[in-house]
This record gives sequence, C-alpha cells and structure tokens, in this order.
Amino acid sequence: MDFRPKLAALALALLLPAALGAQSPNIVLISLDTFRADRLAAWGGAADLAPHLNALSAKGMAFTCCFAPAPETLPSHATLLTGAFPSRTGLHNNGLGRLAPGVPTLAEALSARGYSTAAVIASPVLNARYGLARGFAHYDDMLGTFGSRPAGEITDRAIAILKAPRKGPLFLWVHFFDTHFPYQVPDAFARATTARPYDAAVGYVDSEVGRLLRALPANTVVAVVSDHGEALGDHGEPTHGVFLFQPTVHVVCVLSGPGVPAGKTSAVACSLADVASSLSVLASVPASALRSQGQDLMALSRTPEHPGRALPLEAWLPFAQFRWMPLLGVTDGRYKWVRGKTDRLYDLASDPGEVRDLSASAPLEALALRDKVLALPADPPTQGQVVDSALLGLGHAPAPGGHLDPASLPDPNDRVRVLQDLAQGRLERASGQSDRAVLRLKSVTEADPGNPSAWYEYGETLRRAGQTDQAIAALDRALSISSQLAEAWAAKGHALVSQDKNAEGARCYERALALQPDFTSALNPLAAYYLDENKPDKALPLLERAVSAGFADDWTYLLRGRVRLVQDRPQEAARDFESALRISADPRQTLKAEADIYMIRARYEEGTRLYAEGIKRYPAFAPNYLTLGSYYLQADQPAQAYPLFKKALACDLDPKTRGHVEGLVKELEETLGPQS
Ligand SMILES: [Zn+2]
Repeated sequence: MDFRPKLAALALALLLPAALGAQSPNIVLISLDTFRADRLAAWGGAADLAPHLNALSAKGMAFTCCFAPAPETLPSHATLLTGAFPSRTGLHNNGLGRLAPGVPTLAEALSARGYSTAAVIASPVLNARYGLARGFAHYDDMLGTFGSRPAGEITDRAIAILKAPRKGPLFLWVHFFDTHFPYQVPDAFARATTARPYDAAVGYVDSEVGRLLRALPANTVVAVVSDHGEALGDHGEPTHGVFLFQPTVHVVCVLSGPGVPAGKTSAVACSLADVASSLSVLASVPASALRSQGQDLMALSRTPEHPGRALPLEAWLPFAQFRWMPLLGVTDGRYKWVRGKTDRLYDLASDPGEVRDLSASAPLEALALRDKVLALPADPPTQGQVVDSALLGLGHAPAPGGHLDPASLPDPNDRVRVLQDLAQGRLERASGQSDRAVLRLKSVTEADPGNPSAWYEYGETLRRAGQTDQAIAALDRALSISSQLAEAWAAKGHALVSQDKNAEGARCYERALALQPDFTSALNPLAAYYLDENKPDKALPLLERAVSAGFADDWTYLLRGRVRLVQDRPQEAARDFESALRISADPRQTLKAEADIYMIRARYEEGTRLYAEGIKRYPAFAPNYLTLGSYYLQADQPAQAYPLFKKALACDLDPKTRGHVEGLVKELEETLGPQS
C-alpha cells in the first residue's frame, strides 16, 4: 500500500495558513461614494429613498455616529481598508501619494488566513497605483478613459466574482460611485425623482446594492459604509472635501450577517477606522494581523461611554486645490473642534446644524478634546506628482507642492463665495454660457489671487471662448503658483496651437508629459504635431504610451492609424481605425474621419467604401453625402454626385449649407438634364 498521497495531503493540511474553519464567513464590504448618511432611515432619512439599504440595516446593526477621517475618497478609503488614520497611511489627498508600505491592509490579513480576495472599483481615484490593491488577488480598476463606472456594471462584475469558483471564503470589496457629482443615473431613475438629481442617484445605487445583496451566498457578513457625504449646499459647500461639517464627515456604517446582532442601532462614536478591526473579528482573524488604530464596533457598542476617545478629522483639499488653510479637527461624537486659521467648536448634541461656534466659551470636557487636534506638519502632504492622468480635466486634481505658511493662507470659511463661484463657473462653461463663466471666474481670481485652481479654470474658460492671449496669461498665473499643474501646461499648449504657434505648443505638451507621462490630452496633440512635422517615428511612441496606459481615446487610434498609413502598413492602420470607431463618443464622426484620412492619402477606393459604409449605417448623417458628393464632383463624375446631394437635402443641414447644396443640385440638374 502506498501512503504517499495520504501523507502529502496531511502535509498540505499542516501548511495551510492557520487552518480556517470551514464556517468562516464570506465578507462583502460595500463602499458608497459620496453617500449622505441622512438619506437612510436609521440616520433620520425618509423611509422610501433607499429601501434595500434600509432593510439591510434593519436586519443588522447600524452605527449612527460614525465619522470619516477625511471628506475625500482616497484618504477615507485608505483608512477604511487598513484601520489606520491618514497620519499613518500617508494618504491625505486624492491623486497624491501611495499607501505607506508598513501599514497592513485588511485584504492582506484575510488573504493570509486563506480568504480569496477581490475588489471592484468604480472611480480612478482608487486605482491600484495608490496602493489600496495590496492584498487583493483580483483588483478590477479597469476604467479606461471613462472616468467612472455606473452601478449596474459594478454589480455585474461583483456578481461574476461571487459566481466564479474559488478556494476558501471570499473577501469582496465593491465600490459604487453614482452619488458623486454629476449624479448621472439611468433614465428610469432620473424620471422617478426629477426634482433632486442627488436622490435619484441614491435610488439607483440602492437598487443595485439590492441586486448585489440578493446574489450573496449564505454565511456572508456585509458591511456598508459611505466614504464621506455630500454637502449639497449646506454651509455654502456645493459638494465635499473642503469643510468638516456633518453632511460630509458623518457617514453610513452598517454591519449585517453571522456574528452581528440583528435589528440594533448603536450611537457610539466611531470611525471608518473601526471597520477593518470589526470585519477581522467577524472573520476570526486575530487583530494583530492588522496594525489598526480602530476598534471592534460590536465591542465598542457594548459600552456607550468611551472617555478619551478622540476621532481625528482632516481636510487637506483646501490647501491642495486652492492654497487655503487645511482644516484639522477632532470629535468624540458630542463635540467637534475644527482648526483652520482659528479654532471652531460645535456641540453636535445641542446644535446638530453646527451654526454656533462655542470656542470662546468652551465647556471643560470640550477643552480636553482640543488638545488632541493634530499639529500642522512643517511640510504639506502635497509633495510629489499627481500620478494619475485620469484625474485631470475633471477639476479634481490637486496642485502639487506649495508652502504651508499659515500667516499667508486664507481660512476656507472666508472663501465660501469663491468655492461656489468656481463650481458655478465650471457649470456655466460646461453648458455653453462662456461669457457668464468668463466674468464669474475673472471675479474669482480677483477675490482670491493666490488660488491656482481659480487661475486655471479662468484660463481654460477663456481659451474655450477663443480669447487665447488672455487665456495664456491666466494659465501662466496658475503655473506661477504651482509649476506642476499638468492640466495648465496642456491647456496652454492648446491655446498656443490655436494661434498656430505649434512648436511653442509642443514644448508645453512636453512639460505636461514630464509631469504626467500618460496624460492623453498632451500625448495626442504632441503626436499630431510630430505627424504634421513629418516625424511619424516621434509620434508613434507617444500614441503607444497612451494605448498601453489604458487612456487612449478615439483620437489616439485615429492618429496611430495615420502613422501606420505613412509607414505604409495599411492593415495595422485599418485595425486602428476600427478601434477608434469602437470607442468613439460619436462613431458617425469617427467613421467619417477615417474615410477622410484615406482620401487625403489618395486611397480613394478604401475611402469611398467607408463613406458608403457610413451612409448605410447612419442614413440621416449628412456629412458623408456631402464629402463623397464633393469627391465625385472633383473626379468629374457628376452623375454619381447628384443623388448624394439630393439625399443630403433630406438630412438636417444648417441654413447656409442647405442653400449651397440646393444651388449645387440645381446646377447638376441643368448639366445632367432631367433626373428621375
Ligand atoms: Zn469619495
């Protein structure tokens, strides 16, 4: 008899990491980005806004006095996933830095105990490059150029992971982003609550969380948290990140499943830093596997009073984006100290709206708390570079660098109007009201001349309004405050190119790329410049970089297709043109652009074939008829041109073009004789 297989199995069993019990639960952590706690019933919200989340919290335990460490996505999630506060994780701003190497993650702790680990991320703010992927065997952050992914797609991907075969129990983190501005939701949800786009997004996320919950296997612990709230105009703040008032730092925290008491609510003061410890306890993983600064929520809730517990709060965004004082704070759930240029104290019990500053007459117990506000560091945590070009162009990227000189920095509380005007100016620009946006942003730069974001937004708005000289002057002001603003370098490049100063523009794109090697908005135009200079060999690597970084857009592929044509590699060119079509926001335009390129290259057969393809696919799109008709006219084939122009007249045309085409048709009828 051969015992070797048996012995091998025994040896394997001994080697298995700390022999997980067969009954170790699956752990599913759901983080709702920018989700206001008061949208849920346990936090005083309406019962019907989020029925699935309300049902989950009624079935498990709601921790109704939970605080985010920072009202910003990356620092808050870093704390959630490690149990360490930002002073230890090293992550204080979106887009800057990487999780400190000595900080273990919950995913590492669970994975070392035999858990399968996976994450599905909805926003590039949480891309793997910031270090939060540590410990996850599968980290799905493939967001491409689209900025963020909708809840429906996130749920689909999460359910696919739940259904896939695996070894051991599962730790799955699922991130939803739809309640983040601009609150985009499928039509059905938008129609249901037209008055409040934010609440429509709440309803959408809730329905997708419901779908995910229905797909969970038995024996699963579920934690649902929000990373921060959304101010929605409270205290004058449009979104989140600048202030430490309750609408943005008071967050959702629900636990449910095996080991969690059902139907309970706890008002114990707690933090997102407590979630990792709680989940490791529920997974029977010793707390020592984490170096958490948090505590087990269930244990905390058994004792209502925790004298001396002080939960840190911080907002570095005011400094990082606007060069205002950062806000540092601390709370015990009852009192909240916030330190900007001066101290402010709020009694959350008697003044939940935080309108009365008690700092001048602070009660004794609140004074003890004040000493726990962290000291300002000598250097701001804004050194380094914004390493993710996905954050650029969205108005969310910090301005790296800067000196932390409290005497010269304004307090965010004195800049509420600037904050609102910046948001309003961006909206006006996006909705085509550029005159209003220019005036508004000009006044912002006058009110707050040290604000790099204000100068950048003003410059970018001027540029889009065609006032390029003034745009360049404003962008130079932004760059004089932070020379590492890749967006401002790229915008200046665009402005120069529109003035036909192509070589100068190219130098600006190079500056942008020195900061952001895969910034598509600089890679594409720089490649186009080299192509125009007849240097395809210099253009190609730039385009390849955009493709390999995952940030290529339809223009990238069109340009690379052009490079391939110049290099006489038509098959590769055709593949690139097809890629451009696939990802194009307007495939009609992209298909036509591809056809145009063939025509410019005098490859008329392929070009006319593509116009015909475009006409077949998009019969109501006039430009294909017009361009192909013009080609036949030039080629002296009026009989082929005539029906195309007739069909163009059946499409939407601007009055000038229509008049022109009608003239052509008349002339052709005279030349060709009566046409049927
Ligand atoms: Zn967030």
